[in-house]
Amino acid sequence: MDVTAKLLRVYQVDKQIRGLQSRLGAAEKFLNQQTKDLAALDASRSTLEASLKTHTVTAADQEGEVKALDDKMAHIRDQMNRAQTNKEYQAFLTELNTFKTQRDKLETASLEAMTKAEEIRKQVAEIQAKQEERSRVRDHAAKERDERYKEIEGRLNELKAERAACVADVPGDVLTMFNRLLEVRGDTAMGVVEVVDRKRHEYNCGSCMMAIPIDAVSGLLSSGRLTRCSSCECVLYLDDTARQAMSPPQKSPGGKKSAKSAQP
Ligand SMILES: [Zn+2]
Repeated sequence: MDVTAKLLRVYQVDKQIRGLQSRLGAAEKFLNQQTKDLAALDASRSTLEASLKTHTVTAADQEGEVKALDDKMAHIRDQMNRAQTNKEYQAFLTELNTFKTQRDKLETASLEAMTKAEEIRKQVAEIQAKQEERSRVRDHAAKERDERYKEIEGRLNELKAERAACVADVPGDVLTMFNRLLEVRGDTAMGVVEVVDRKRHEYNCGSCMMAIPIDAVSGLLSSGRLTRCSSCECVLYLDDTARQAMSPPQKSPGGKKSAKSAQP
């Protein structure tokens, strides 16, 4: 096996490894999003619950004050009934009216606080429903991520072992160069030679579409020597289509000219 074929093997195993890992990555990303959304809902709920508590306490305090005023007013009414003079009566009446005004204000405020508390309670319930829903999604996402991992774990280890076997007979300096290329370029670390025009010996790098000189292509065909695209620096290789296109034309019996253009 020539060096290009060896690298192609590494490249193909690597591609599978990256594919598997990206599947896990998507599941991981989805799970993280759910966890984040859930945390945001938790925060909103905490804020609302704090506000609910404030309004509930305020309403209860105000209700207590209303009750205290009711007691005071009852006492004044009692005193009014027992008033000896009109002046005394008028004084009690003024006091009663002052308390009445205070009471009305407090009652209105208490009612407002209670109404607000009720609104917040509804919002809390809505958030709670969303949290439950989101929790289910998050749990499902976590399960999915774990399953994906379990699913790929075995295959990933197999591929890693396969890769180790594949790289074993690649020369050290070539491997160092190729690993760096894989790291930087991933799927475009290698490029297939594309046949643009066989008769005119026109070939392109399948990765960057720039032209490749004929001697580079011939070298690949004859010895599979390490050949890099001078433009994008990927490692070039020939696939079956390119090999077929470059192999000497089949002798056509009778030498019919039209046979030249016939495709296999
Ligand atoms: Zn290229």
